[in-house]
Amino acid sequence: MTFAAQILTLYPDMFPGPLGASLAGKALGEGKWSCDTIQMRDFASDKHRSVDDTPAGGGAGMVLRADILGAAVDAAIAKQPNVPILAMTPRGKPLTQAKVREISSGEGVTILCGRFEGFDERIFENRNIEEISIGDYILSGGEMATFILLDACIRLLPGVMGHSSSGEEESFENGLLEYPHYTRPIEWEGRIIPEVLRSGDHAKIAAWRQQASEAITRSRRPDLWKRHRDASDSSPSDVRQKNKED
Ligand code: SAH
Repeated sequence: MTFAAQILTLYPDMFPGPLGASLAGKALGEGKWSCDTIQMRDFASDKHRSVDDTPAGGGAGMVLRADILGAAVDAAIAKQPNVPILAMTPRGKPLTQAKVREISSGEGVTILCGRFEGFDERIFENRNIEEISIGDYILSGGEMATFILLDACIRLLPGVMGHSSSGEEESFENGLLEYPHYTRPIEWEGRIIPEVLRSGDHAKIAAWRQQASEAITRSRRPDLWKRHRDASDSSPSDVRQKNKED
């Protein structure tokens, strides 16, 4: 099955852009996902093909018009009726690995890329659109945010990653940050790879990695650590027992 990405943008030439290289580019070439763009400007009706106007109530910048957005979104729905519609916005729900998994398990996605000050609010009131943020900072447009979202989804599509198990141990997949990695040479600038990792004892290695994952999460991301502990407190797992002993 091809995961169909449909992007509504004022800059269709930006796509597939960086997603045309490396893992995502190879998958695109193999038809594991497709990348179609819709030029929002095509839905403008005046001779200047304008898509934005000044904000009601005054203030700086320009706002994408609801009527243009509505027509563009409707065209996207006509092309792909069964996929979720997302809009990239700084005030949206923060993107998580769980959301990425949910999106990548579907048939595809339609994504609205904002520009200027953003969207006329009424598009969110009259169409079923979920707002997604990639972080607490402001980009100049939704295209970069779309690259990030799609890159995260594409690597999870069946057959895209070499070893499918490598996706499951990654940071955030189990609510924790990943343990440290090492590779050859065994000694570098006086630093030696931890002995346990060279022991060949898989149970000990797994225990070391779990412990390292927990320690890194606790010190770097107290927010994730708290969530992880709360989640394991409500599930009857070994982790709960272990956390209680801490
Ligand atoms: N006036 C807006 C910012 C507009 S930035 C505000 O203060 O919230 C222009 C466009 O870039 C947005 O419409 C959105 O599509 C995109 N964008 C900027 N920052 C983003 C972020 N952190 N996550 C997702 N999209 C973002």
